[in-house]
Amino acid sequence: MVFKKIPVGILGATGVVGQRFIELLEGHPWFEVKCLAASEKSAFKPYKEAVNWLMASKLPPKIADLIVQPCQPNLFPCKLVFSSLSASVAGEIESDFARHGITVVTNARNHRMNKTVPLLVPEVNSSHLDLLKIQKEAGKIITNPNCSTIGLTLALKPLSDLFGIEAVHVVTMQAISGAGYPGVSSFDILDNVIPFIRGEEQKMETESLKILGSYETAEVLFHPMKISAQCNRVAVSDGHLLNVSVKLKNKPTIQEMIEAFRSFSSLPQKYSLPLSPEKPIHYLDEENSPQPKKHRHIDKGMAISVGRLRECPLMDYKFVVLSHNTIRGAAGGAILNAELLVRLGLLPHLSLSLEDKSNQLQ
Ligand code: NAP
Repeated sequence: MVFKKIPVGILGATGVVGQRFIELLEGHPWFEVKCLAASEKSAFKPYKEAVNWLMASKLPPKIADLIVQPCQPNLFPCKLVFSSLSASVAGEIESDFARHGITVVTNARNHRMNKTVPLLVPEVNSSHLDLLKIQKEAGKIITNPNCSTIGLTLALKPLSDLFGIEAVHVVTMQAISGAGYPGVSSFDILDNVIPFIRGEEQKMETESLKILGSYETAEVLFHPMKISAQCNRVAVSDGHLLNVSVKLKNKPTIQEMIEAFRSFSSLPQKYSLPLSPEKPIHYLDEENSPQPKKHRHIDKGMAISVGRLRECPLMDYKFVVLSHNTIRGAAGGAILNAELLVRLGLLPHLSLSLEDKSNQLQ
């Protein structure tokens, strides 16, 4: 069987998330990394010289020798790029790529709240992909939510569907890799907790409403729940932990809540997408779980872990959520977004070229 992979590029390939893209796309059955881009400081160097490789896996030899390009769409042979550009430059560059007919699946915040741009968590709001029909450029822009918001909305989705949500209070403990590289200085973070991450609380409080909102004729109506977030940086390498309290419209029993988490499944699972977790939510029974060090890699780092479900004296219930911020919360989430787009045939110029598609696309 002849099977031609879709060539893809990575913008911001030298950063923490860019490196995670390279790691997760190595051996991917549908996508093959053909071009890498970063800032002028890295451009025209072989990738191995431009990058400070931080991943635990080995830098793939084919990638090591690729020459890093500047972020100019006319230099790009790929029609699909993943973006992990710094937000200070991502907005303009990504729009430019879309204008040149290149579809951008991005982690950066710049286009997330744009009315025509899907803010996608594939298990939660695939109906929002209809927004792509009203994007005017030949290349489309699809965004990944903020890393903590992905974990939160995945946990809230089954509760919203089954019981209705009135209010959410969330306190985060976020890993240092969430601040990029070199990120927070060791002097600041060792022996410390920093109770401030610029813009993070506002992102959680607005993006969650869009993601859990309903799609109605060419627009997303925001979810009406109230939400308050407090965000902290802690000395953990990877994995954001969230303490969540919820007030529900129809309060279920604890057993019904656990069953809602455990039985949740959605499109990526139905289609067995390559990077899809088998179960999006793993409910853990141990009284001291989930923990970043022990549980962040559950289900390839693509599932969230939930635990410590108990009654809340202020709201109805409280529980703990853990998600891997650079896998499910960034590169892995974006790759899953692209897999869903391809599987749904929403990028007609980017279909898998297979003699026998039935074996690949079940
Ligand atoms: P990072 O480590 O700081 O990497 C930033 C990347 O952007 C680098 O490749 C850098 O290239 C490139 N860049 C910077 N200025 C540029 C310019 N003027 N032109 C072209 N490229 C430029 O950041 P990160 O943690 O990987 O995050 C990347 C994006 O994903 C950010 O928008 C971030 O908010 C978002 N995000 C991050 C996480 C996370 O957990 N880290 C999670 C979700 C979303 P050089 O190396 O050449 O400077």
